[in-house]
Amino acid sequence: MGEESSQVLSEEQVQLDDGESKPATSLPKPLQLGTKNNSKPANWTIEKSENLYRIAGWGEPYFSINAAGHVTVSPQGDRGGSLDLFELVNALRERNLSLPLLIRFSDILEHRIDRLNACFAKAIARYNYTGGYKGVFPVKCNQQRHLVEDIVRFGKPHQFGLEAGSKPELMIALAMLDTPGAMLICNGYKDREYIETAMLAQKLGQSPIIVLEQLEELPLVVEVSQSLGIQPLLGVRAKLSTKGVGRWGTSTGDRAKFGLTIPEILQVVNQLKEAGIINSLQLLHYHIGSQISSISVIKDAILEASKIYVELAQLGANMKYLDVGGGLGIDYDGSQTNFHASKNYNLQNYANDIIAEVKDACSERNVAVPTLISESGRAIASHQSVLIFDVLSSSGVPSDLPPSLDIEEHPIVRNLWETYKSITEENYQEAFHDATQFKEEALSRFNFGYLTLTERARAEQLYWACCKQILEIARRQAYVPDDLEDLEKIMASIYYVNLSVFQSAPDSWAIDQLFPIMPIHRLTEEPTERGIVADLTCDSDGKIDQFIDLRDVKPVLELHPFKSDKPYYLGLFLGGAYQEIMGNLHNLFGDTNAVHIHLTPKGYKIEHVVKGDTMTEVLSYVQYDAEDLVENIRRRAEQALLEKRITIQESQRLLQNYERSLGRYTYLSP
Ligand SMILES: *Cc1c(COP(=O)(O)O)cnc(C)c1O
Repeated sequence: MGEESSQVLSEEQVQLDDGESKPATSLPKPLQLGTKNNSKPANWTIEKSENLYRIAGWGEPYFSINAAGHVTVSPQGDRGGSLDLFELVNALRERNLSLPLLIRFSDILEHRIDRLNACFAKAIARYNYTGGYKGVFPVKCNQQRHLVEDIVRFGKPHQFGLEAGSKPELMIALAMLDTPGAMLICNGYKDREYIETAMLAQKLGQSPIIVLEQLEELPLVVEVSQSLGIQPLLGVRAKLSTKGVGRWGTSTGDRAKFGLTIPEILQVVNQLKEAGIINSLQLLHYHIGSQISSISVIKDAILEASKIYVELAQLGANMKYLDVGGGLGIDYDGSQTNFHASKNYNLQNYANDIIAEVKDACSERNVAVPTLISESGRAIASHQSVLIFDVLSSSGVPSDLPPSLDIEEHPIVRNLWETYKSITEENYQEAFHDATQFKEEALSRFNFGYLTLTERARAEQLYWACCKQILEIARRQAYVPDDLEDLEKIMASIYYVNLSVFQSAPDSWAIDQLFPIMPIHRLTEEPTERGIVADLTCDSDGKIDQFIDLRDVKPVLELHPFKSDKPYYLGLFLGGAYQEIMGNLHNLFGDTNAVHIHLTPKGYKIEHVVKGDTMTEVLSYVQYDAEDLVENIRRRAEQALLEKRITIQESQRLLQNYERSLGRYTYLSP
């Protein structure tokens, strides 16, 4: 989807942000600049924003906040310069790239690959491990061509390979991987064509390893091997009894969808011996699910797998590789816990535990240690992209007091007035129950015809005013009683954003996955509002109302008051894995614009622009032909003209609008 733009933007050089405060010309409001000598109330600081949005927790070393109160990106981690994300977005908008906009930082990808490899190298040195490490990128995590090209290129020094989980992904992996010695792992359902293609690719100098995941694949492999006269490279995927935990936990265990049970693995060994190709079996693979948040699960799995590996070697298989699959987690909420949106270990712990465990198991039984392979997708691809979207409007709960009138109020309204006036630190909980009860009473009286519309409006206004005041008190308390916890939700503003959750963050909708979301500017200013995010679709599920927090999740996000004459940009971070391809066309919102940014010594370079879908494109996915649609409208306009229901000017204007829209982005323009 989407076409690569022919515009040559790549030579663009832009000055680097040096991390110091920016010249005031870039922002019309000097009040927002700098922390020290401005006239902002001194009680809000950048540090407070950092703590509030937990940016160091999930964003290190790539994302932080500069003195101007903008999010900055350091795509090369600690070893390079940084960019002001807000200014980058403005610069991209000047180039006619509309929001929502997916910004990819190829340097982050490179840094992630280097870091994973460095951690394994360190672990290998530390434990005197005599085998090597050769990672692969599971293509299913993000199949975009530019990204896969980058991974292959950045992976070259590490002999980093690719993993295919389906036939189309095999097509990608075979064509894109050209690194001598890198692994090409073939997983997923396989038919004869898949197997033949993988084996024949050996003649091109590649070494695809066909991983048997189902028993039925074995006779097919033997047959194809015999008819082609090629000795296959084989692996087996074991169903471990170790269970993953959390969201993706069900992908493991005895009832897992993929993999062979231990009796089945023995059957494979015997049949390969019978066929005289037991030498082909070189790899043991397992995958216990994604985002494993607990290191103890990772240890249990590698312990079980290394024992199987050693046994296979002793049974006469030509074992060389142990492939530990994916599962390496990301700390989405920065809490460093085994909460599903976090993980209680780091990359180095992960590498150390794997290397140490495998070494022990092998030396115990005098088996040569394997080359280790991991298929880390989420850990490689999540950080590289940032989704930027703008707020279109916001609506808060109207909490202003109604004007006091010189009339005899309805008793219910009077009760609410009294409740309102009597709220204190001591009785705020009781006041909340009173106000709620009076409001409910007002509603039921209205339904029975005993309250006028005006009286009902006054009752509701007073109720919201009570809630607002009670909430202010509750927020100051160290402990908030359970029955008041919903108050934040009740009082949350709705921020309407130029985005489709279904297209750009499908896991947030489908499996309640948490992504860090925060404003990318105004961070010197206190975010006084509490809101949820509602998208453009007319689906009531098209919203985000769970946000990262140190403990559990929070139902509202701290946001700045929206001003209709100023853009307000939010960023969704760590969404570089799985979201793009699973995004769908709900309400026909298409792919977003995407740009690839690469840091240069003097600034940055826009390496690729991939334009998002136009309306014509999304309509064609559901078999509408744009020309037919235009023709249809033209005919109706002619008829209306004949019947004098429309003027010629009006009909021309309508047609122009219609035609122009078809060529446009599916999202709203400012
Ligand atoms: C999805 C998948 C991966 C990637 O898992 P991550 O948790 O994203 O690293 C690796 N291997 C297999 C077999 C998979 O199905």
